[in-house]
Amino acid sequence: MNYEAVIGLEVHAQLKTRSKIFCSCPNEFGANPNTNVCPVCLGMPGTLPVLNRFAVELAVRAALALNCTVHRESRFARKNYFYPDLPKGYQITQYDRPVATDGFVEIETEKGLKRIRIKRIHLEEDAGKDLHDISPDKSYIDYNRSGVPLIEIVTEPDISTPEEASKYLRTLRNILMYLDVCDGNMEEGSLRCDANISVRKSGSSELGTKTEIKNLNSFRFVEKALACEIERHIGMLERGERIEQQTMLYDSKENITRPMRSKEESHDYRYFEEPDLLPLVLTEQDIRTYGEDICELPHQKKMRYTGELGLTPYEAEILVQDKGVAEFFEECALLLKEPKQIASWIINDYMRELNARKISIKQSPVTPHKLVSLIKQVAEKKITLNMAKEVFVILFEEGGDVQEIINRKGFTVVNDSDEILKNIREIIGKHPDELSRYKKGNQNLIGFFIGELMKRMKGRIDPKAARELVKTELDKS
Ligand code: ADP
Ligand code: MG
Ligand code: ZN
Repeated sequence: MNYEAVIGLEVHAQLKTRSKIFCSCPNEFGANPNTNVCPVCLGMPGTLPVLNRFAVELAVRAALALNCTVHRESRFARKNYFYPDLPKGYQITQYDRPVATDGFVEIETEKGLKRIRIKRIHLEEDAGKDLHDISPDKSYIDYNRSGVPLIEIVTEPDISTPEEASKYLRTLRNILMYLDVCDGNMEEGSLRCDANISVRKSGSSELGTKTEIKNLNSFRFVEKALACEIERHIGMLERGERIEQQTMLYDSKENITRPMRSKEESHDYRYFEEPDLLPLVLTEQDIRTYGEDICELPHQKKMRYTGELGLTPYEAEILVQDKGVAEFFEECALLLKEPKQIASWIINDYMRELNARKISIKQSPVTPHKLVSLIKQVAEKKITLNMAKEVFVILFEEGGDVQEIINRKGFTVVNDSDEILKNIREIIGKHPDELSRYKKGNQNLIGFFIGELMKRMKGRIDPKAARELVKTELDKS
C-alpha cells in the first residue's frame, strides 16, 4: 500500500525589535537570567500592556513580503493556560482576527517551483524559558524571554515530504533575515518550528488525523523528526490502528518521537479578546510605509543574477543564501563588470577562508576594492591567476596593500614572447628524448615541457600563453 505525507508547519520567529512587545524591557538574547524584566512582563496584577509599534511594523513587513493580505483591523486575544513560564496565566496572541492571512512562499523542488500557501500570520508574545539542566533536582525559569515579540507563520498543509519541509524552512528563514525581521538564529531559539503531520493513501484527497511535533530547532531535526513520524503513522495504519491526535516531542538522541500530551482543542484555552488592548488598526498609509523597507528578496536576486549578470543557477543560489554575501558580490560587480569572475572568487576563495575562520564576508580583510584590483592585475597580465590567489591568501592572513604585496613577492609576468621562446628552445634542446617521444604521439609530454618552462621562469608566465607557445615550438621542432 502506498502512502503520502501531508505536512503543515507553524514557525515562530522572534522579531528584531530593541524592546519587548508590551513593555520597554530590552529584547536581547544571552543577558543574565531575570535581568530584562519588569512588572509588565512578569505579569504583576494591575499592570497594562502597551503595544510596541515597531513590532507591528516588522510583522507587516514580513506579511507583505510573504504575499499575505494585511488586515486593516486585527485583534489581540488571551490564550489561557497554566505553566510556570507564563506568569500572567495567559499569553497575549491573536486568534480569529490575525494581522495577516492568505500568502505564499515558493520553494525550489526537483519538479520545479512549488507554492506553499500561508494560512495566517499573527503577532504574539513569547513565554519565559524553563531551565532544567542547571540542577539535578530543581527547575529554574528565566523570564528575560517573556514578552519578546513573535510572529507565528502558519502554512496550509501543502508540504509533502521532510525535504520540502526543510526547504520551506530555509527559504522562509532567509527571507526573514533579508527583511531584517528576524535574526534567524535557530540555536538561540529566534526561529522555532512545530510540524503537523498526517498520512493518507496516495491519491486520496481526504486528510488523515494529524499529530504535531513541537519545538524543532534545526533543519536536520525537522527532516529527521518528520521521517520518524511518517514511518510511525504508516506502521499504525498498516496494523489497522487508529492514530490519536496528540502532541509529540522528538528525541534526537534516539531518533524517535514520543507523545508529550494529548492534543488540546482551542476551547481548552478559553480564548477571548484581550480586554487590555485596543484592536490593532492600520491605515492604508501605514501598510504602504511599512512595505517600503522591503528589500530585493533572495529569489528576485537569483533571477537577476542568472538573467542580467549571466551567472549559473548554482552560482546565484550560493550567493543569495546569505544577504551579506549577495551585497558584497554586488558591491564588487559595481566596481568591475566581471560578475562571473567575481562570483568564482567569492564562491571558492572567500568561502574557503571565511569558513576556516568562522567569520562573515563583511568582516573579511579583503574588501571589494582589493578583490577588484587583484582581478584587474590578472586581466592586464601583470600577474598570473596563481599569483593573484597567493596574494589573496596573504591579504587574508596579514592584510596590506595589493600592489605592495605584489612588489614584495616580486610577482611579475613576462609578456615578452621572444624571451619565452628563447627559454622554450633551450629546454627542447636539452631534452631530445622527451621531444622524440612527443613526436611519436605522446601528447602528455607537453605538460613536462610546460613544467620545465614554469620552473625556469619561476611561474612568471601566463599558463595559457605558455601552453600555446610550447605547443607551437614542439610541433615546429
Ligand atoms: P490547530 O487548530 O489544531 O492548531 P490548524 O488548522 O490551526 O490546527 O493547523 C495547524 C497546522 O496544521 C497548519 O500548518 C495546518 O496546515 C496543519 N494541518 C492541519 N490539518 C492537517 C492534517 N490533517 N495533516 C497535516 N497537517 C495539518
Ligand atoms: Mg496550532
Ligand atoms: Zn518588561
